[in-house]
Amino acid sequence: MVAIVGRPNVGKSTLLNKLLGQKVSITSRKPQTTRHRVMGIDTEDNYQAVFVDTPGLHNEEKRAINRLMNRAASSSLGDVGLVLFMVEGTRWTDDDELVLNKVRQANLPCWLVVNKSDKVKDKTELMTHLQWLNEKGEFEHIFPISAKIGKNVDKLREMVHASL
Ligand code: GDP
Ligand code: MG
Repeated sequence: MVAIVGRPNVGKSTLLNKLLGQKVSITSRKPQTTRHRVMGIDTEDNYQAVFVDTPGLHNEEKRAINRLMNRAASSSLGDVGLVLFMVEGTRWTDDDELVLNKVRQANLPCWLVVNKSDKVKDKTELMTHLQWLNEKGEFEHIFPISAKIGKNVDKLREMVHASL
């Protein structure tokens, strides 16, 4: 199982939909649209990945992400094998920091997915930001993507495929 985590509005639901090529999760400009965990199953002949789109970070949703991460960490129900930690373009907020701390506690393989790359006009700025992010955490991979236009999403999917 692959958990997609990140603060509200980074594009988790959009990515899930793109990965699965269909609308399974509600996307919205408004934060906290995803009220419940949404799962999507990507199936091929000899491969199956279950993606979980986790809600955001406020109120009951905060508890949901805590539960998921705690469960993953304790591995009693240890079904999450990979965490896709999503952040946005060249922004970093306190909420991102909060999610990163949760992800660290879970002590699972974690890939950093930097979304909305289409919004970043200055690619040097993006590269500098990626470098900065890389020094923040122990990420096995870093993917700059655009979930909206599908840039690099196939690559991400292939890598997930290969890792399972
Ligand atoms: P979630 O709260 O993390 O699930 O975020 P959503 O998937 O609901 O997306 C939040 C908003 O960001 C929506 O308006 C999306 O259309 C927009 N969005 C998502 N991915 C991208 C992207 O790659 N590029 C741009 N420009 N907008 C995006
Ligand atoms: Mg969502």
